[in-house]
Amino acid sequence: MSEPQILWLRRDLRMADNPALHAAAAQGPVVAVYVLDDEAADHHAYGGASRWWLHHSLESLGKSFGKRNSRIILRRGDAVEELCKVAKEVGAGTVHANRHYEPWWRKAQGKLDEKLDLQLYDGNYIFPPGFITTGSGDPYKIYTPFYKSSKAKFPPRDTVPEPETISSPENWPDSDVISDWDLLPTKPDWSGGIADFWEVGEDAAHTRLSEWEDDVADYDDQRNLPSIDGSSRLSPHLHFGEISPIQIWHALKHKRSDGWETYESELVWRDYAQNVIAQFPAYPSENYREDYDRIAWRNPDKDEEAAGDLRAWQKGQTGYPIVDAGMRQLWQTGWMHNRVRMIAASFLIKHLLIDWRRGEQWFWDTLVDADYASNATNWQWVSGTGVDSNMFVRIMAPLSQSEKFDAAGYIREYVPELNDLSDADIHDPPDEKRGDYPDKLIPHKAGRERALEAYRAMKNG
Ligand code: FAD
Repeated sequence: MSEPQILWLRRDLRMADNPALHAAAAQGPVVAVYVLDDEAADHHAYGGASRWWLHHSLESLGKSFGKRNSRIILRRGDAVEELCKVAKEVGAGTVHANRHYEPWWRKAQGKLDEKLDLQLYDGNYIFPPGFITTGSGDPYKIYTPFYKSSKAKFPPRDTVPEPETISSPENWPDSDVISDWDLLPTKPDWSGGIADFWEVGEDAAHTRLSEWEDDVADYDDQRNLPSIDGSSRLSPHLHFGEISPIQIWHALKHKRSDGWETYESELVWRDYAQNVIAQFPAYPSENYREDYDRIAWRNPDKDEEAAGDLRAWQKGQTGYPIVDAGMRQLWQTGWMHNRVRMIAASFLIKHLLIDWRRGEQWFWDTLVDADYASNATNWQWVSGTGVDSNMFVRIMAPLSQSEKFDAAGYIREYVPELNDLSDADIHDPPDEKRGDYPDKLIPHKAGRERALEAYRAMKNG
């Protein structure tokens, strides 16, 4: 019998188009291992919503391996140590894994490569870091030239089929039991809304993709309208690798339309975000533009009023219906519409003058698609502290954004106390019609001026 092959699973929880699994299965019996090693991720250990998704995704993939008379070995601790232990237990010398770019995993990849034969594959991105470069071979910092340059690189590689057979080792090593990992919330169990909103796993991702095939042509017109289900909602499936962007690209390639072009450009945004953290691994915790280290943020740890404002933002009680609808959608479902993410993020950073990293951390804890690269890249984009041109002074007006993007239906769904207001009133309810709905934390104009003043002080200081 040939030597067992270790498959190191991370955010690639699928059977099909999984190059690492495909290679491992072709070379010998497969020992798939998932190591819960997120304590290595300083400040970015999985948040509550991600842990919920991970539990169900691992369970689902475990069943798929089970149908092939195989299994996933679960271990908790340091990834390199655990993989070396498993390798020793089964007599394996080779580990197959799809490349990941989170800094703790890059470190682990480096260490593992010194101890075992580590075979890495490109599995999770259309254009992984290093693939799209300037003429002189350097990585791009900014999205637009990255995207333009990506156009010449289509089509992406073909998908890799699910292995026909997955053979088993003579002896299985010990595995943890997933319920012992306590990934699901218990006291209190806040996951009911999330469970109602999502189906987790590879099959669910493909079901969603087949629904999306019919809608992608309308993406251009509908993606900014939060009251309409106008985006793919594939983000958590993509994040956990239940489906690959290359599978999505090939499934939709016969549906070329303006909507599909725009959709393709969003998939490239996802790759771009990895390209950013591959260059700047501390992007989620450090301003790229050092000038902004001097901004006099209001600090919720030292200022009670700022602490109250942060809590009101987190709970969807800011008095701005579009912001509150978004923040409540996030809390209830673990997801928020992209346009509303931008509005809510801008509101925290500018109207409330609270450091974008507070928002990044809240999203990290509550989004089912929380992604080290995409979350940080978008937060630094909204705050203007990142690699892009300066966005700090572009302050989104939440009330007119709400009207412009026709958010009345969305507000009614997530802020039911405003249900009876007319379309004319609901974006900015008049005082006499607010009922129990809170007053604005700060008027728009005052928030805007305070933000611009902080910006000027930073520039002069
Ligand atoms: P669609 O509109 O259908 O897009 C298809 C796919 O493209 C998405 O599933 C996603 O994988 C990718 N994508 C789309 N927009 C972006 C973008 N701006 N940046 C990177 N990838 C994108 N997305 C995450 O996946 N994880 C995050 O943690 C995350 N945090 C964000 C934080 C802020 C402040 C903002 C403004 C945006 C954030 N996004 C994040 C990007 C975007 O909001 C989500 O990817 C999108 O809303 C997911 O819904 P969808 O699958 O319906 O997207």
